[in-house]
Amino acid sequence: MSPEQDCLFCKIVRKQVPCQIVHEDERVIAFRDIHPQAPTHVLVVPKRHVAGIHEVAAADGPRLGEWMLAAADVARRLGIHEAGYRLVINAKADGGQTVDHLHVHVLGGRRMQWPPG
Ligand code: 5GP
Ligand code: ZN
Repeated sequence: MSPEQDCLFCKIVRKQVPCQIVHEDERVIAFRDIHPQAPTHVLVVPKRHVAGIHEVAAADGPRLGEWMLAAADVARRLGIHEAGYRLVINAKADGGQTVDHLHVHVLGGRRMQWPPG
């Protein structure tokens, strides 16, 4: 079985799993996290399956820029651009990644802490 068939976020991209979509274009889909960690918590997900930031090859470099800019654009659309927000990419076990399809967390609506937990 290819990773795409069994992947939760690929299923969301294919609309096989319901979610609250806040933005979609030809490259990415952005939807609300099911367990929000801030008043605004959205995941920006490339439509193409990439396991994580650790899997991004040199050829994906320009795409990665587009995905990050899409996340910043989502922050603007959701009205957290002025006050500020945080973009997070978790990688593998120590990074806290639980879904093996690259995603950018867009968190806002409250003051973030540092260092992260
Ligand atoms: P990670 O831990 O891999 O960085 O982030 C995965 C995120 O996906 C978590 O914040 C988790 O709450 C979210 N998540 C897991 N399953 C679902 C789901 O079925 N729907 C939505 N909308 N979010 C999910
Ligand atoms: Zn996937």
